[in-house]
Amino acid sequence: MADKTLVCRDCQEQFVFTEGEQKFYAEKGFENEPQRCPSCRKMKKQQKRQFQDRQFRY
Ligand SMILES: [Zn+2]
Repeated sequence: MADKTLVCRDCQEQFVFTEGEQKFYAEKGFENEPQRCPSCRKMKKQQKRQFQDRQFRY
């Protein structure tokens, strides 16, 4: 296995899917490669959390 360069579907930036991450994905049983770069993934997570916070309040 080697590092892979993937393109983020959100910002179209290239990012590296490292050998270690690939191993982690395989261990978790994920069949799909990551679709987003780390920064977009982080943003997405934060947005999701904000959304859940809003729902919780209402
Ligand atoms: Zn991105």
